Amino acid sequence: MGLDTDTIRRDFPILDRSVNDTPLVYLDNAATTHTPAQVYDTYEDYYSRYNANVHRGIHTLSHEASRAYEAAHDRLAEFVGADGREEIVFTKNTTEAMNLVAYGWGVNRLDPGDAIVTTEMEHHASLVTWQQIAEKTGADLRYIRVTADGTLDMEHARELIDDDVELVSVAHVSNVLGTVNPVRDLAALTHDHGGVILVDGAQSVPTRPVDVETLDADFLAFSGHKMAGPTGIGCLYGKRHRLEAMEPFLFGGEMISHVTFDDASWNDLPWKFEAGTPPIAEGIALAAAADYLDDIGMDAVREHEAALARYLIDELDARDDIEYYGPPGAVERSGLVSFNVDGVHGHDLSELLDGHGIAVRAGDHCTQPLHDILDVPGSVRASFYVYNTRSEIDTLLDALEDAQRKRD
Ligand code: PLP
Repeated sequence: MGLDTDTIRRDFPILDRSVNDTPLVYLDNAATTHTPAQVYDTYEDYYSRYNANVHRGIHTLSHEASRAYEAAHDRLAEFVGADGREEIVFTKNTTEAMNLVAYGWGVNRLDPGDAIVTTEMEHHASLVTWQQIAEKTGADLRYIRVTADGTLDMEHARELIDDDVELVSVAHVSNVLGTVNPVRDLAALTHDHGGVILVDGAQSVPTRPVDVETLDADFLAFSGHKMAGPTGIGCLYGKRHRLEAMEPFLFGGEMISHVTFDDASWNDLPWKFEAGTPPIAEGIALAAAADYLDDIGMDAVREHEAALARYLIDELDARDDIEYYGPPGAVERSGLVSFNVDGVHGHDLSELLDGHGIAVRAGDHCTQPLHDILDVPGSVRASFYVYNTRSEIDTLLDALEDAQRKRD
């Protein structure tokens, strides 16, 4: 049974608005999803009832804020199958979570002769970060090839991941191809060679059940604003012993245990990695987003997204002058489809679609090297979430026909 989108849409008042005098069709969810009333009510409740700094005051409001903020870590731990709050660090977003691993773990451990393995389909948040770390440490940076059908070349992965490899950093779901990568197999391969694996969950945690124990991920990074939560909050999951062995990346208040003029010692996990005043309201609201998604059911979210992507791909397959990227219809993929219409620049297409009230993303989607491989400067991406419907995809298809007519 599919999702009850009529009921779900009532939780998202923004979907009732018009854009250019037509009802909004929001298909830019891989960039940022909308936020249901349940989440922003939680946010407002914090500011209207118990706004205070955490872990510092001994007054009632501060206790209440601290309890809710700590419980939010527990909730996110539960959402991804972590062992407890100690394994969940709140960050600003996925990018900061990956940089935390890069600087807290990578810079301190990598030397010339070591290797980092990543893939050709990474977002710049991963790719550029590891380029920088490779440059700083002298470690070798290797890329697992992407095949013609948009999947990872696992034979190449087996060649690249050897005993020199200290870290493998891989996107669970590609934000351009929609490919769902075999993270569990990559984790096993990495661990066989004594390395650790960082999973970029920016596109997977919001859209499918993700369990860190099943994946055997050492680290998992994800963002609140892509999973019905607020902006300004993300998470780094880390296996407890990995986080214990990792150095802090930011220093200041909150992350210390004891300070003298000569030295300082660090707070317990996860606070050791949360320097300064953290995103309190955002963290509490993110926990409400996890509640919201679990109420729907992450299996149902995955099915819904996959069905919408399949529907769009089947329709695009029937059109000769539209090329889409990533796995063909029958292969598992996430709820996003990137494509180009022959003879129409992506930015022009996006503008025309906006005229029809349709929000999509056009450009390189922070994956310039992947677009070099695809041999196009950019693409237009339609991406779905729990509130999207088939009839919205029909609206998109009608608008694409309009673009083709205008072009001809
Ligand atoms: N990784 C992937 C696969 C993404 O799609 C994105 C954002 O689109 C990011 C990382 C970066 O996320 P953020 O901008 O929230 O840090």
